[in-house]
Amino acid sequence: MIFIGVIKMNIQCDFHTHTQASDGTTSPSENVQLAKKAGLQAVAITDHDTIAGVEEALAAGEELGIDVIPGIEISTAHNGRDIHVLGYYVPYNDPAFQARLTELRDVRHLRNVKLITRLQEIGIDITVEDVYRRKTSSGKNIGRPHIAEELILKGHAESINDAFAKYLGEGGAAYVNVERIAPEEAITLIKKSGGVAVLAHPGLYHNDELVEELIVFGLDGIEVHHPDNSEENKAYYQQLADDYGLIVTGGSDYHGIRGDEEFHAPLGSYGASLQSLEKIRKLAEIRRGTLQS
Ligand SMILES: [Zn+2]
Ligand SMILES: [Zn+2]
Repeated sequence: MIFIGVIKMNIQCDFHTHTQASDGTTSPSENVQLAKKAGLQAVAITDHDTIAGVEEALAAGEELGIDVIPGIEISTAHNGRDIHVLGYYVPYNDPAFQARLTELRDVRHLRNVKLITRLQEIGIDITVEDVYRRKTSSGKNIGRPHIAEELILKGHAESINDAFAKYLGEGGAAYVNVERIAPEEAITLIKKSGGVAVLAHPGLYHNDELVEELIVFGLDGIEVHHPDNSEENKAYYQQLADDYGLIVTGGSDYHGIRGDEEFHAPLGSYGASLQSLEKIRKLAEIRRGTLQS
């Protein structure tokens, strides 16, 4: 038990959480409440290609005394494989930034349609309308977990993980990839808009050569602590962070609960210290200052 206490001490901020604005199941304010319950001082809202959840979370944070970091997780691809880039202190109320995100979301929609078409081709009775019933607001982002829900509902999968393994994940029967921006473009987009760019879950890519290339290209930080990074990964990325002077972050990748299954990890179970947050905040301030002058 003492061991858990020691680990917990360094988690003051969960830098990676999703809400109903993309494929999470909780509202932005619920994420802030969960952060408070978990004893955190700060939480980032990092929905896929949308900042639609940020304002609600900021208001909740103000009320509950939790520091909310406006963030995003941008989907990119390298050689057909998904690479996710996290952005912190992005200009969530800037129309030009929002317009760029709309373009990225259109790509996500295209992928959903392709996936559903592929599922139909292999004989599964599912329609775009079935899945998009879940789009309850214009900013809400529909993705693979919503398709998985529909597959469970129709009896084609037992759980979200099962749906990903059988159909939706890499190697699944209906897996498709679509043209996405390169990770370098996402890094540039985030930094040019005054934000701080961090590589999400590097352990998932099994491509440390690319990780290092992106660091050299201009990443500000790396997500060392994430449920999908092995202990070995963590040690390796911590070392890379030290070598290149990168900010170390961590996050649960909280997506809420679907059925009775926790998709990814509980909010606050992964994170990093307030020192990391201070470094990010300072860097964003400097960058915004340079933009304005
Ligand atoms: Zn991700
Ligand atoms: Zn995520």
